[in-house]
Amino acid sequence: MSNPGMEALIPLVNSLQDALSDVCYNYELHLPQIVVVGAQSSGKSSVLENLVGRDFLPRGTGIVTRRPLILRLLHADTVYGEFHHCKGNKFTDFNKIREEIKAETERLTGRNKDISSVPINLLIYSPHVVNLTLVDLPGITKVSVGDQPADIEYQIRKLIMQYICHENCLILAVTPANTDLTNSDALKLAKDVDPQGLRTIGVITKLDLMDKGTDAKEILENRFLPLRLGYIGVVNRSQKDIDGQKDIRAALQAENNFFLSHPAYKHMAHRMGTPYLQKILNQHLSNHIRDTLPGFRRDLESQLRALNKEAEEFRLDDPTSRNKTLTLLIHHFADELKKLIDGTCDNVDTVCLSGGARLNQIFHLRLPNELTKVQPDEIKLRREISYAIRNIHGVRTGLFPPDMAFEAIVKKQISWLKEPCNKFIDMVNEELITTVNQCFDKNSACQHSKQQDMWGVGKPGNIFIFLK
Ligand code: GDP
Ligand code: MG
Repeated sequence: MSNPGMEALIPLVNSLQDALSDVCYNYELHLPQIVVVGAQSSGKSSVLENLVGRDFLPRGTGIVTRRPLILRLLHADTVYGEFHHCKGNKFTDFNKIREEIKAETERLTGRNKDISSVPINLLIYSPHVVNLTLVDLPGITKVSVGDQPADIEYQIRKLIMQYICHENCLILAVTPANTDLTNSDALKLAKDVDPQGLRTIGVITKLDLMDKGTDAKEILENRFLPLRLGYIGVVNRSQKDIDGQKDIRAALQAENNFFLSHPAYKHMAHRMGTPYLQKILNQHLSNHIRDTLPGFRRDLESQLRALNKEAEEFRLDDPTSRNKTLTLLIHHFADELKKLIDGTCDNVDTVCLSGGARLNQIFHLRLPNELTKVQPDEIKLRREISYAIRNIHGVRTGLFPPDMAFEAIVKKQISWLKEPCNKFIDMVNEELITTVNQCFDKNSACQHSKQQDMWGVGKPGNIFIFLK
């Protein structure tokens, strides 16, 4: 929160992220975010919950996080969560958020322990958070359990790599203090994509669980395996604390006391703990966004230019090659359609009537049939003719029947034909649509199918709209 001007950057990136997840077109843009990486049970969920100040993540043994969770924290006066997949539904009960994360995970991966790379997007508004975007990923595991695929370790690594390989991503490498740092899975993975340690922040958990007489002073002072952004130590709630429902606020207080009273850490207590981590992450993310935004803008502009150029090439008054391809496609399509209607198809259908033959049937069989159903009542007609003639003559008497009487009677007769004729038009229309679709099916089976997809006319319905 040290730089209020930069605070606006994170909500701006959030809006961009929303806009991009709403468009189906795959824009190759990677927005800055913080990705949490670590072995299973290293304390990733605990760190995230502490940053939010609420319990809301599914817990349990084995792989609980099986889809990436993109967690956006926004500082606000009210407290609630909202998922991208059910927008407008405000979750004020954080237990319900946990249930929804579980349910949404299972919706895609089923109940077994499969993983998926399709993220769940969750926004959390709260007065206790600073603006941050964090991504929680499945923990690195070595063994597959139950009906998990045998290559689960490889799958998880691949998924983590997908996120952390982008230069725009800050890596939060979580390592428990009671294991050997040189064996840290998180740091190893981070090193693969960030060999100089420029965008990796080390988080050391479980400092309270270290063997008596040992400490992580050297690591936290950034002297052992140094990272440019350094290491921050945290103390999360133990399983006992969680089972005893220890409140996060109380846990944060206990964490603060731990650092202030520990002989190895008290000199750097102000640079340790969850609130400091929160502040540092916010600062780094803002700086990172500020640094990457110009490049991001350039990217976006160059993509826009490329798309505009592509759109330009499709202009009908511009006889370029692309335009020619489109014209060729339309000609080819029109030829096929003509063949189906004229009956000059290469393969004669011997199973059923189609195309022109069906139209012929409508014209010569069904229409006359419909028309013969319109049978005027002869006595009534004679009476109407007589009345019409007499009404036109008025007080006079005439030798010849007047034209006007003829017109009036014929008009009425023709109006009786309107209904069967409309029905007939619908029949022809339907038949034409079937023929066009038939023609499209034939076309898409041919070598041009790829190009048609490129034009966005992959479905029969679409080409019809397209031709209309
Ligand atoms: P994840 O699998 O990486 O998400 O790990 P979790 O956050 O679920 O933590 C795994 C277990 O370690 C839980 O029982 C936590 O209570 C416990 N734990 C996490 N961090 C700490 C810590 O700093 N100190 C202690 N004592 N326990 C911790
Ligand atoms: Mg977890």
